[in-house]
Amino acid sequence: MTLVEHLDAAKIEGVLERTKEPSAEVINNIIAKARLKKGLTVEEVGYLVNLKEPEQLKSLFQAARAIKWEIYGERLVFFAPLYISDFCVNDCEYCNFHSRNTALPRQKLSLDEIAKQTEFLINEGHKRILLELGEDDLNNRLDYVVEAIEKIYSVHTTKGNIRRVNVNIAATTVENYCKLKKANIGTYQLFQETYHRATYERLHKGGPKADYERQVTAHTRAYEAGLDDFGLGVLFGLYDWRYEVISLVIHAQGLEETCGVGPHTISVPRFCAADSVSYKPEHPVSDEDFLKLIAILRLAVPYTGMIISTRESPAIRKVAFQIGISQSSAGSVTTTGGYGKAAKSSQFNIHDSRSLKEVLGDVLKDKLIPSFCTACYRLGRTGGRFMELAKPGEIHKFCRPNAILTFAEYLVNYGSDGIKEMGNEVINEYLSQIEDSKIKAETEKRLALIRQGKRDLFF
Ligand code: SAM
Ligand code: SF4
Repeated sequence: MTLVEHLDAAKIEGVLERTKEPSAEVINNIIAKARLKKGLTVEEVGYLVNLKEPEQLKSLFQAARAIKWEIYGERLVFFAPLYISDFCVNDCEYCNFHSRNTALPRQKLSLDEIAKQTEFLINEGHKRILLELGEDDLNNRLDYVVEAIEKIYSVHTTKGNIRRVNVNIAATTVENYCKLKKANIGTYQLFQETYHRATYERLHKGGPKADYERQVTAHTRAYEAGLDDFGLGVLFGLYDWRYEVISLVIHAQGLEETCGVGPHTISVPRFCAADSVSYKPEHPVSDEDFLKLIAILRLAVPYTGMIISTRESPAIRKVAFQIGISQSSAGSVTTTGGYGKAAKSSQFNIHDSRSLKEVLGDVLKDKLIPSFCTACYRLGRTGGRFMELAKPGEIHKFCRPNAILTFAEYLVNYGSDGIKEMGNEVINEYLSQIEDSKIKAETEKRLALIRQGKRDLFF
């Protein structure tokens, strides 16, 4: 059966119908199974999205928290988006860059401008960028995207350089994905926006993105081109979140079946208001449901990284970091070329406009270690090799020392007094918790080297 057939609306509605009244016993059994960190069936996910009792919700959050900490531990990886062009021929109802927005003075950054934006992000402390742009075969040719990636990797300042460029661009051909692979990208992210076909077709009327199947089959083409780190996502608010969560799990399992590797990440963007967008989410997701869906995904696909962005408020992010999120953007601007400039018309309005430094200060209070690690893809731990380590929870052996080393580097380069003190305390605490004595000794040695001026040390 093809992925599109697996994602058939009647089937998903059937799951929701069959699981609509879960008993306490069923929920308890599913949560107990999820604690084994082997994931859940689509039917089991159906019961969880239908869960209503406060007691069951409490158990769900407890299990999600435990799984998050067992697999990913205390580390939280940070990145920033970089918008390089808002030219777009698509007509997505929810996005300010939609093609009908003739009032928007479109911008496409030159390579020099991309270098300046990159310098800005490096000087803030970032090591990972998520490249963003609209779809436009004339203005945003793939060769331009490749040149932009090369430019970003080429920029070095006294503070360092960007070590991983993840890419969030429109669905494309195997040939183009091959070019992205050659450009040495990290993760290829593409959001389905909504898995509900009728809704998808209604909200994407113009441009090539109107083709539901092109969107849903994109990750398989990326895999064919050799991109084995790919990310899924849904824009929550467009359709019933329960339907979307079931679909995400079907998609993740389908990819694992056909490619032998599941998604590296799942992103959970929620609709935000935007200039020129009169669309109002037809299925707004409450804060409680939003946290619930993060927890359910944590149980259903425990080995997959989960990403939250600055679309969410500091308060929601704080809770989400504890129950499933392993990567987050910070200090973001959603305007093309917008870093270091006065605010202009952005893709959408964000709800956490704190600087990276402010966000880091906050997560340290919660005993999380900010990580700027880029080790896995640079050492070839991607796709299947990554999953082999992530599934049994082994990846944490690398994540903890790498978080310690990359955050220590951040503190040396950018840390002001308050954050240095707090940061070094958290580093010492987790350093003492490294179980493997050889790794611990080597981490201590490398930590000392970083404090003496060495850079970019990792496992
Ligand atoms: N243009 C490419 C595409 O659409 O796939 C990729 C980049 S687009 C800049 C990244 C994502 O932003 C989209 O996939 C969509 O989910 C999200 N987005 C668009 N409008 C949004 C809004 N109003 N609120 C929150 N997220 C939005
Ligand atoms: Fe274009 Fe992406 Fe915005 Fe759609 S979401 S209008 S494809 S930039």
